[in-house]
Amino acid sequence: MSAEPYADEELAMTDLEIINPSIPRGRFRFVLFDFDGTLSLIREGWPQVMIPMMVEVLADTGTREDDATLTAIVEDFVMRLNGRQTIYQMIQLAEEVKKRGGTPLEPLAYKHEYHGRLMLRIQGRIDALASGHATCDDWTVPGTHAILSHLRERGLQLYLASGTDIAFVKREAELLGLTPFFGSHIYGALDDYQNFSKKMIVERIIQENNLRGEELLGFGDGFVEIEEVKRVGGVAVAVASDEANRRGIHAWKRDRLVRAGADLVIGDYRQTDELMRFLFG
Ligand SMILES: [Mg+2]
Repeated sequence: MSAEPYADEELAMTDLEIINPSIPRGRFRFVLFDFDGTLSLIREGWPQVMIPMMVEVLADTGTREDDATLTAIVEDFVMRLNGRQTIYQMIQLAEEVKKRGGTPLEPLAYKHEYHGRLMLRIQGRIDALASGHATCDDWTVPGTHAILSHLRERGLQLYLASGTDIAFVKREAELLGLTPFFGSHIYGALDDYQNFSKKMIVERIIQENNLRGEELLGFGDGFVEIEEVKRVGGVAVAVASDEANRRGIHAWKRDRLVRAGADLVIGDYRQTDELMRFLFG
């Protein structure tokens, strides 16, 4: 094909980066979205809660590693596991305690401690949404409602899958006005954690609908969802959202998501029209 309409210089104007220009386009029927950092900003700042908590736990083992060393180690596994259920980050923490000669708590106990600390940071946001003092736009990635509307108007079936506990995902999706886009296809972490994974959701979408890989489109800011969508031959859009500043591409997320196999990188959905033209031709 000649006259590729999406030449680099045109795209340089926007926050849309095409990593893999040869992806199959226009055949999508199903779309899988991650929740936190991809659509919702309610849990913005969660790594700044999880990472220091884990560094404290590891420092308490009496290890000789200093905080900077421990922070680097924790950051690496926390972000590598981002997208899976939170319990897996806590299972890894327990392993790291053991490696340092400590006796870990149950991973579920660490998860509860983390969640308590996170709620201190985000409860005000939830309350403001519930009382109407904040709007859906205040706590979603810019352009969220517009892109979901566009995809739905094209007749695509939308799925939401999160590593956050399902009860919270449903509540927060409702507060953000996102429930109608997904209907019954909202999935999240279960106490019985072996009965849920993004891999399972992806496989179920493919099997139940007899899809070819190129009919699946995925959006996410975590390593895991990008990997799983690519594993089945789908097209993966990295949402390298800068959750604090809400503009531009977050370089650190971008680099990891490209390594995970992302085909495209965006920072948010402000450029929905261009993105839709690229994806659907
Ligand atoms: Mg996420």
